[in-house]
This record gives sequence, structure tokens and C-alpha cells, in this order.
Amino acid sequence: MTEARIRLYVDQPLAAGQPVAVGDAQANYLFNVMRLSLGATVKLFNGQDGEWLAGVEHAGKRQGILRCTVQSAPLMPPPDLWLLFAPIKKARTDFIVEKAVEMGAARILPVQTRFTNERIREDKLRAHAVEAAEQCEATYVPPVDDLIPLDKLLATWTPTRRILWADEGLQGRTALLQAPPGPWAILIGPEGGFSPEERTKLRALPFVTPISLGPRILRADTAAVAALTLWQTTLGDWL
Ligand code: SAH
Repeated sequence: MTEARIRLYVDQPLAAGQPVAVGDAQANYLFNVMRLSLGATVKLFNGQDGEWLAGVEHAGKRQGILRCTVQSAPLMPPPDLWLLFAPIKKARTDFIVEKAVEMGAARILPVQTRFTNERIREDKLRAHAVEAAEQCEATYVPPVDDLIPLDKLLATWTPTRRILWADEGLQGRTALLQAPPGPWAILIGPEGGFSPEERTKLRALPFVTPISLGPRILRADTAAVAALTLWQTTLGDWL
């Protein structure tokens, strides 16, 4: 068996002997761009069934059939950590989504804050999440929610999930080391930071833990990676 170097996300069930149909874009990539022929092996994952080796059984111009052989990795979902972030400029928002997947976020929620001026294309962000998972060997793809106003999200929040709020106004050391394990969400603000009203509100919520990310003001994309690192090293799967 040739070594499988191509890794693809597919939106279909994966199991021993399971045929997987590939359509236009993936067939073009596999059979025209990468020139895979009959019998070649690829790796497939669908976010639920782990990673599977699959052989090319039919290679057409516009479609093809792959057939799963053996599971090459079990499903390894990330810890129960969500990333809430206010969208910033397009390339930096794309970066946040890509890094959130690599860093092991279980769900990505773009939030509209008072000083959020950027629009997003959720479908594009979802495609970025899939691409990031394909390239970082993840077997799980975090869902990307539609943009939601922060107020609305907080009004219906389940308080058993704590929010780690990256508060640019905080001086001093982070209190994360004393924080309890369990479901968490990280909250990162936009380039303009949080409004005074938002800060008052967040400060009053019992399930919110403010943290400092050090003495310098980070750009939002850097802050997202820094906060994910901090959480993963103290409460997550880097332990
Ligand atoms: N314009 C704001 C900075 C916004 S930085 C100001 O000058 O104050 C964007 C986001 O990154 C912030 O809302 C916060 O969530 C996070 N962030 C950046 N630096 C941080 C720090 N040192 N500590 C905690 N959070 C930080």
C-alpha cells in the first residue's frame, strides 16, 4: 500500500468497507491536480468517525469513489473549550479561525460587540476551519456559529460554562491557575476593545473570569492564540 499523503475532510460516514463518493471539487483535486490513480490511498475524516485510509476505486473527471479500508486514527475531540471572538479585518479573522482549530477549540462563535465594525462570511470561515483541520491532522472540525450579538449570547448563557475574558484593561497576573476545570469559553474583543458598558456587565457576571495577557496590548488575533495557549496549558489537553 502506498503511503497516504493526502488528507481530506468528507461529509459522509466512514467505516470499514464504506464507499465514499467525491464530487466535483474534490475529484478535480484528487485526480487532476494530485494525479491519483486507481488503487492509490488517501486519508479521510468527517469529524465524527476518526481518520480512515481509503483506496481510489473509481477516478472520473467530475466524480470518483473511494473505499474505506482501516481506521488510521480514532476520533480525538478537543477539550470542551469554545472561542468567542469579535471579528476583525478579514485576513486576521481567517487567522483566528485557523489558529483556533490548530489550538484545539471545540466551537467557534463570532460575536458582535459594541466596537465590532467588520462583517464576516460564515461559510468562508467554515471552509477555513475544514482546511485547517485537514492540514493539522485533527480528526474533529469545530463548528463556526453565525455571528451573534454579545448581549444576546450572554442573556441565554448556561452559567456552568465559565467565560475566560481577555480584559485588556487588567493589570497584573492572571488568575487562571486557580480556575476550576470544566467547560469554558474564551472571549476576545475587537481592535477597539470592549466598551465601558460591556466591561461593567462582564465584570458583574458570576461565570466570567477576567484575565490579563501580560503588560502589552496584543492585537486580537495574537490575543486569541495567547489565551488558547494559556488555557490549554493550565486546564486543557496540553497537560
Ligand atoms: N484598543 C484596545 C485594545 C484591543 S486589543 C486598547 O487599546 O485598549 C483586542 C483584544 O485583545 C482585547 O479586547 C482583549 O480581549 C485582548 N487583549 C489584548 N491585549 C490584552 C492584554 N494585555 N490582556 C488581556 N487581553 C488582551
